[in-house]
Amino acid sequence: MKLIDSTLKPEFTSMFDVEHIRADFPILKLQVGGKPLVYLDNAASSQMPQPVIDRLVRYQTSEHANINRGVHYLSEKATAEYEAARGKLQRFIHAREDREIIFTSGTTDSINLVMHGYGRKFIGAGDEIILTTLEHHSNIVPWQMLAEEKGAKIRVVPINEAGELLIDEYEKLFTERTKFVGVLHVSNALGTINPVRHMIAFAHARGVPVLVDGAQAVPHMEVDVQDLDCDFYAFSGHKLCGPTGIGVLYGKAELLERMQPFKGGGDMILSVTFEKTTYNSIPHKFEAGTPPIAAAVGLGAAVDYLSAIGVDAIAAYELELLDYATEQLSRLPGVRIIGTAASKTAVLSFVVEGVHPHDIGTLLNQDGIAVRTGHHCVQPVMLRLGVPATTRASFAFYNTMAEADAFIAGVRDVQKIFG
Ligand code: PLP
Repeated sequence: MKLIDSTLKPEFTSMFDVEHIRADFPILKLQVGGKPLVYLDNAASSQMPQPVIDRLVRYQTSEHANINRGVHYLSEKATAEYEAARGKLQRFIHAREDREIIFTSGTTDSINLVMHGYGRKFIGAGDEIILTTLEHHSNIVPWQMLAEEKGAKIRVVPINEAGELLIDEYEKLFTERTKFVGVLHVSNALGTINPVRHMIAFAHARGVPVLVDGAQAVPHMEVDVQDLDCDFYAFSGHKLCGPTGIGVLYGKAELLERMQPFKGGGDMILSVTFEKTTYNSIPHKFEAGTPPIAAAVGLGAAVDYLSAIGVDAIAAYELELLDYATEQLSRLPGVRIIGTAASKTAVLSFVVEGVHPHDIGTLLNQDGIAVRTGHHCVQPVMLRLGVPATTRASFAFYNTMAEADAFIAGVRDVQKIFG
């Protein structure tokens, strides 16, 4: 993987050899309906580079056994690799200790863990939970379930037309009953980057813990959980060039220690009798049963891969792609970009006058272009911005300017078809 390419277009200034990077991703060579695949559905799931695939094969072919307590070679090897992956994730998000990294099955699972482990213990009748209009359903529904069970209330931070949180309104929502804040770092539907550092400091000044949904942030920007000072941070492996079925919950050790376990079973205990069970220490208290060992090892390889490129370099390159595609798309008459925040990642949601998003997605697919259409699991955002659905192109560091051009040409062709 080389990072400097002398053949870069002069206007394309980042230190990125995107063609070398693309060569690492076998799936990008795919033809769809006889056309080269243009994969712009990265916010839903990103693709996996060969080094990660190789790591999974190596694990399965020479390292796999069940972990913990095995005395034989393979069990010790698999345990060591699983724990090594935990250390890689710790360093990737700059957590203080590796026991603050809990492997889950994904962002949804991580948020549910916090709801059950923290929420059910510390949030009660009449208490208030602050969420934002931008949240993915996975950071709304668990809290609604809790609110219904406990008689708690959910208060919602509004957004403006650009898709930015109204921070003054956020601050006004705090009362003496506020017990928890859940906020997403980056919006999956609009790309808005939220001022989470400020929001966390504001909540902490009132003694309120904050969970950050980082599913769309970790693949696109440097995240330092100690600098943010968040109490919990959740993300998924499959959006980070890793496997499906694995995710991370970061939690401050002192909070994790006070929480109740979410799932019961093997490995999360120290001793069991029918009279009494004592729980294991963190992180094992929250990892009941056989965890996704191979997926964790694969995710470790994925963060190694991203770190070798450099998350800052990825962010800078993706911003160039975003600026270019935004400018080109906004030139098309009848196209309205949904989500125009001042601070964004490379997500382009849009509507085209007179054309349903599903038709746009279907026609782009005929050109081999993969975008997502629909409500993107953020129905409150769609309701607020007055659109039933959007088409969303979401870029990754392996996308090119030429692919952005192909996408724009595809949208133009759709408009021609619909007159
Ligand atoms: N949060 C955000 C912001 C997301 O974009 C997504 C997935 O698109 C999720 C949570 C849920 O992630 P997962 O389905 O991997 O649990």
